[in-house]
Amino acid sequence: MKALFYLGPERLELREIGKPKGDVVIKILGAGVCGTDLKTYLKGHPMFKPPTILGHECYGKIVELNVDMKSLEVGDTVAVAPYAECGKCDLCETGVPELCKSKTYLETGCFTQYIAVSREHASRALFKVTDDPAQILAEPLACVFNGFEKLRVKPRRLLVVGGGPMGVLFALLGVSEGCETFVIEKSAWRLEHIRSLGIEAADTPPEGLFDGIIFAVNIPELVGQYTRLANDGGSLLLFSGYPKDSLIEVDSYAVHYREVSVVGSFGFALKHFERAVETLSSQVELFRRLMTHRFDLENAPKAFEILSKGEAMKVFFGM
Ligand SMILES: [Zn+2]
Ligand SMILES: [Zn+2]
Repeated sequence: MKALFYLGPERLELREIGKPKGDVVIKILGAGVCGTDLKTYLKGHPMFKPPTILGHECYGKIVELNVDMKSLEVGDTVAVAPYAECGKCDLCETGVPELCKSKTYLETGCFTQYIAVSREHASRALFKVTDDPAQILAEPLACVFNGFEKLRVKPRRLLVVGGGPMGVLFALLGVSEGCETFVIEKSAWRLEHIRSLGIEAADTPPEGLFDGIIFAVNIPELVGQYTRLANDGGSLLLFSGYPKDSLIEVDSYAVHYREVSVVGSFGFALKHFERAVETLSSQVELFRRLMTHRFDLENAPKAFEILSKGEAMKVFFGM
């Protein structure tokens, strides 16, 4: 089978390797390229040491079941959660399962034709879905559900800073939750795409205050700048990943006298993944419109190139 190997910054190689063996073997139908994959491709990443296979957003078809799994059958199409919390530790029990230190993981990246999943992981991390490329969005949408949950009050007005695929998923959720939603984005291509989805967007914020401000772009200075746009009791959500030692400066007056919260969210828990799968299945046509660029593994560098230019929403590989 073909597998796309990451060999270091801007170095990819499509290799022929043996098909994996394991409890459950899945033929990948589609795999999304996310911000982390892009960052790794461009600059490297401490978590992904080359040579390795990247990709953690995927769906596919079960082609082999070598263990007895009650709810799954060969031929089922499934969305794959890349990790699953243990459900038993202190962090799981105190209500932050996304931070669980005893997760089970998908052991390999999904920019390949087949993956094997252990029984333990498969029993919790595979969700039956229909065959549609939009199912790739289950993982990013799960992260968005987690972020939304961290907002202190349910926003009447929601501001999303950064209109990449994650920002737009946030905006779509905001709209479906009945929030007056606005996206700030600089790329003209993206602005047009966001507006075509019926979401208000511009390169500067509109008048007025917001109960939730989502930072879906990792520029730490923006957090301080946008604090003045937070309504009393509103939240600033640091959703993007920030470099390890970067600091943010937030007006302490706003935090105390106006009860503006600074919150963060990282990844997802299984309940968020489940909610994402349900949402995608009920609105698949809407979410499919985010899947703007499909590539074969052979053309992988082009996929990363177009994503880094900001002239795409979700870029994905179709296998
Ligand atoms: Zn991702
Ligand atoms: Zn746990």
